Amino acid sequence: MPERLLVVEDSKPIAKVISQIGKALNFDVVVASSLAETEKILQGDSQFFAATIDYALPDAMDGEAIECVLSHGVPGIVITGKMDETTRQKILSQPVIDYIPKENSQAFLYLKRVLHWQRANQGSGVLVVDDSVAARSHIVELLKRRNFTTYVADNGVKALEILKQYPNIKMVITDLEMPEMDGITLTNEIRKHYHRDNLSVIGISGATSGVHSARFIKNGADDFLRKPFCPEEFYCRITQNIESLNNIEQIKRAANTDYLTELPNRRAFFHDANINIEKYRANHVPFALAMLDVDHFKRVNDQYGHEAGDHVLKAIALFLRKHIKSGIIARLGGEEFAILLAGIDKDQILTKLDDLRADISITPLSYNDQQLNINVSIGVCFNSTEELTQQINQADNALYYAKENGRNQLAVSGEDNE
Ligand code: GH3
Ligand code: MG
Ligand code: MG
Ligand code: MG
Repeated sequence: MPERLLVVEDSKPIAKVISQIGKALNFDVVVASSLAETEKILQGDSQFFAATIDYALPDAMDGEAIECVLSHGVPGIVITGKMDETTRQKILSQPVIDYIPKENSQAFLYLKRVLHWQRANQGSGVLVVDDSVAARSHIVELLKRRNFTTYVADNGVKALEILKQYPNIKMVITDLEMPEMDGITLTNEIRKHYHRDNLSVIGISGATSGVHSARFIKNGADDFLRKPFCPEEFYCRITQNIESLNNIEQIKRAANTDYLTELPNRRAFFHDANINIEKYRANHVPFALAMLDVDHFKRVNDQYGHEAGDHVLKAIALFLRKHIKSGIIARLGGEEFAILLAGIDKDQILTKLDDLRADISITPLSYNDQQLNINVSIGVCFNSTEELTQQINQADNALYYAKENGRNQLAVSGEDNE
């Protein structure tokens, strides 16, 4: 069931724009155009992921709808046309997710971003390190409104322990002066073990001189906040840092994924396979490396077109996913795939690979009302003591033999075929 978004808004055009944003983010949208209607909806069912709340409604001119929504346990984002200091203070004194001035179209882009992160933040941990209980709770309270999972520590030593324990932590917000280990030393220690691609560090200090921000940054922090800070500033920094981590993650994923089949690519295969093989050898676990190549694939392209060829490659990826549940599969390039399998004996590995081959062979693939019969050949090499590139060569030689010997078959490296 999709999560629900409540849109409290009396202006029909604005309600429409917000509803579109909600639907684009896969929410089921419910609109209420007055305080009375909001109250009625929430009394019926208050299961909403969040609500956007228009500050002024015909029957609630001064933000009364905010309290109504929050009292039902629904997190709210206030949308307001009034941006004077009294209104701002009044809104910020309540635990809202955020408030958005209806100034221009930027407001709606901002709303989309806030709603997106409200959902995406749920799995992300933030560690707050401060020796002052009050300062810690204030930051934790702000983070909770944004759906982060929060952890706390009152000094650097404890912070390092918690970091080790919870790999979901993506961000550390640390005070400067603390007993046992201060924020600068903590940042420095963190950077010995955690790269800034995976974990961001934000330093906080009350000191007025610029020296502290400089020291934090030079010791590996990504950002700095000076106390006292306003919630807007805090959220802006947090969101920017989380977005930056997310961008890096996406770039890394793209660099390791084959665009067509979405399998790991050659680069990912070399990286992951080398790590796994090292472990298999250390633990004396039997393993095998197999190369799979589509038979007469050029003919598919020639007869049915390049798109049909692409369709076949995607189908092969699905067969690989179906048959190889544990181990590494990858598209090395063209119509060539690699498989690394471990932990089972030679016969079982051969059976598994031959089942894969047979399944592809007997299953006609449909493409634009046409049936394509596809075969693959597989070459395998077992427990090689050679380097990965050599193992691939060995499997390739066996594959070559399988091709020469009539295709649609499996051949093992070193077994009367070389
Ligand atoms: P064999 O049975 O000996 O492997 O013959 P083959 O035709 O499969 O092998 P060959 O190496 O001669 O041809 C491979 C073809 O794969 C040539 C190339 O155009 C095509 N190909 C490579 N990458 C892609 C791709 O991403 N999409 C499509 N549709 N075709 C591709
Ligand atoms: Mg302190
Ligand atoms: Mg081929
Ligand atoms: Mg080939």
